[in-house]
Amino acid sequence: MPWESAGRVPGALVEAAESLEQAVARRRKLADLALPEERLAARLRTVFRAQERGFLRRLEAARLARTVVEAARLWEADDDDELDVGDWERLYDEAAAETAPALESALATWIDTALHAGFAAGLAPLQVQLSLQLANPRAAAYANERAAALVTQIDGVTREQIRKLVTQATSEGQSYQQLAREIRERYATMHTPQPQRHIRDRAELIAIQELGEAYEAGNYAGGEAMLRAGVALEKYWLTVGDDRVDQEICAANQAQGWIPFRAEYQSGHQRPLGHVGCRCTQLTRRKPEGD
Ligand SMILES: [Zn+2]
Repeated sequence: MPWESAGRVPGALVEAAESLEQAVARRRKLADLALPEERLAARLRTVFRAQERGFLRRLEAARLARTVVEAARLWEADDDDELDVGDWERLYDEAAAETAPALESALATWIDTALHAGFAAGLAPLQVQLSLQLANPRAAAYANERAAALVTQIDGVTREQIRKLVTQATSEGQSYQQLAREIRERYATMHTPQPQRHIRDRAELIAIQELGEAYEAGNYAGGEAMLRAGVALEKYWLTVGDDRVDQEICAANQAQGWIPFRAEYQSGHQRPLGHVGCRCTQLTRRKPEGD
């Protein structure tokens, strides 16, 4: 059947093409990030396990040093031991310093992979291929900067978690052994996947969050590079479209449809992610002529 007016694409066809493009972008992000998420989570688990060992070893050594004159009694006394963890913070910081290089290198490697994948994905619908280093050197530095900041942030959160355990143990008169058990259980939530949970441990949470963020930073960097080359662009906040999508931020941003690339979405964001656990991505297109 001939189209009603020459040169115009029927609305139904435009819609079909758009929903295909959306499906492709969603699948591409999942496919691009599956392996990096798995590998980074595995590396983070190794780091958390090493940090747990390093910290508990120091804590135990310091305790033995304090009680060395009562060594004979130490091996008998268990839960009656009076809790004295001394300067645990210095011992934690030592353990964290020991694991920091491995943590930073794992983060930098996989964040950089996700950044480049997002950059290529963002430019794919525009049928453009660019080098991130050449097109957007500031964005290309993202991985190393983010990895360094994250090491501080991740270890800072762990230190606060341990502080709570120490405070609680002290106020409840727990033994050293009880505190050590609590610390091991806390580290287990970081490095031991719980099969029944949606996000199975902290390693996975960090991997999903940071690689999703890096992917969208790369995606956005592609648009920025095109803008600087003088191409007028629009963007579209694409949710995964299931019933776990955040309504106020993500679904409402998507409902805005295509908006100018420099504009903010109604949530105030320039691009996804919209929140922790956000699975959205962003589509970019040339601004249609005549709009
Ligand atoms: Zn979202």
